[in-house]
Amino acid sequence: MGAMYDAIIIGAGHNGLVTAAYLARAGRRVLVLARRDVVGGACVTEEVWPGYKVSTAAYVNSLLRPEIIRDLRLADYGFAMLPRDPSSFTPFPDGRSLLLGPDRAMTQREIAKFSEHDAAAYPEYEAMLERVADLIEPTLIQTPPAPWSKRPRDLLALGKLGWNFRALGVDASRAIEILTADARTVLDRWFESEQLKATLATDAIIGAFASPSMAGTAYVLFHHVMGECNGVRGVWGYVRGGMGGITQALASSARALGVNIRVDSPVSRIVVRDGRARSVVLEDGTEFLAHQIASNADPNVTFLRLMDPRDLPDDFLRAVRQIDYRSA
Ligand SMILES: Cc1cc2nc3c(=O)[nH]c(=O)nc-3n(C[C@H](O)[C@H](O)[C@H](O)COP(=O)(O)OP(=O)(O)OC[C@H]3O[C@@H](n4cnc5c(N)ncnc54)[C@H](O)[C@@H]3O)c2cc1C
Repeated sequence: MGAMYDAIIIGAGHNGLVTAAYLARAGRRVLVLARRDVVGGACVTEEVWPGYKVSTAAYVNSLLRPEIIRDLRLADYGFAMLPRDPSSFTPFPDGRSLLLGPDRAMTQREIAKFSEHDAAAYPEYEAMLERVADLIEPTLIQTPPAPWSKRPRDLLALGKLGWNFRALGVDASRAIEILTADARTVLDRWFESEQLKATLATDAIIGAFASPSMAGTAYVLFHHVMGECNGVRGVWGYVRGGMGGITQALASSARALGVNIRVDSPVSRIVVRDGRARSVVLEDGTEFLAHQIASNADPNVTFLRLMDPRDLPDDFLRAVRQIDYRSA
C-alpha cells in the first residue's frame, strides 16, 4: 500500500497534467500515474526513427488556453509556438492553387484568383466569426451553470450569458446557426468559390467523422478560429520540439509544483468502498490511496474497464455505453 495523496490523476495526457499542476498549485498533494514510459498521451513527441523526432498524433496547436500557458509558466519550461505562415496550401487538378495564412492581404489576393466576390466577403466573414468567438470563448473555461438550478450563482451566470448573447445584435442568428447547423449552409451563405469553400470546410470535418453537410459541423469549423498563437486569434502554430513540447513543459511545471509523476504505471482498477473511490491499483498490484481520484482516460476505459459496474448507477452506465467513439 502506497502513501495517501489528496488527489491521484490516472493518465498523463495534457489534460491530466494540467489538472495535476493546478491542484498542486492549490496546495494539494498530487500523484499522476502514467501508463506509458513517456508522458503526453496524444500530445507527444517521439523518436520514431533513430535521429528523427516527430509529433506522433496531434501536430498543430492553437487551442491550449493562454491562461494555462501563463499560470503554469510554460515558457519558463521550454514551451514556444511557431506560427504557421502560410497556414494552408490547396492544389487543384487544373494546376491552380490557393494559399491561405495570417497575412490578410496575401489571403485576399489568393482568394481573388477564384472569386472577387469572395475576396471582398472574406474579411467580413472573419470579423463575424471573431464577434461570435468573443461570446463563446470565455465559456470554455467556465463551469457551466445548471439551467434548472435556482442557486443565485447559476442564475447570475445564465443571466450574464443571455445578456452577452443579446449584445450580439444581428450576429445572434448567425451565432445560433454556427452552434447548430452544418458548415455547408454557413459557407454557401458567404462564398461562391468551390475552391475556397472546400479548403475552409477541412476545419469543419477534421476529427469529426462527418461530411460538411452534417449538422454540428459549423461548430467544428468555428471551434478552429477560437484558439490563438502568440496572442493572435485564429492562427495555428507548431510547437518547438513537436507537440511533446507542451506536455514536457506541463510535466516540468507540475513537478516544480510538487507533483509526483510515475511513468510505466498502468492502473488496472479504481477501488470503491462505501460509495466513494478510495484508491487505485496498478497492474503490478501496487495500491495508492487518495481523497480524490480523477481520470484522464476516456469514460469507456474509466467507467467500464477500471471500475466495477456494480459501483455505478445503471442509467449512468447505459449513458457511457452509448457514447459514440467512431470519430478520432
Ligand atoms: C491522430 C490525432 C491527431 C490529432 N491532432 C490534433 C492536432 O493537431 N491539434 C489538436 O489540438 N488536437 C489534435 N488531436 C486531439 C488531441 O490530441 C486530443 O484531444 C488530446 O491530446 C487529448 O488529451 P487528453 O489529455 O484529454 O487525453 P489523452 O492524450 O488521450 O491522454 C490520456 C492518457 O491517459 C493514459 N491512460 C489511459 N488509460 C490508463 C491507465 N489505465 N493507466 C494509466 N494511464 C492511462 C494514456 O496513456 C494517456 O497518456 C488529435 C488527436 C488524434 C488522435
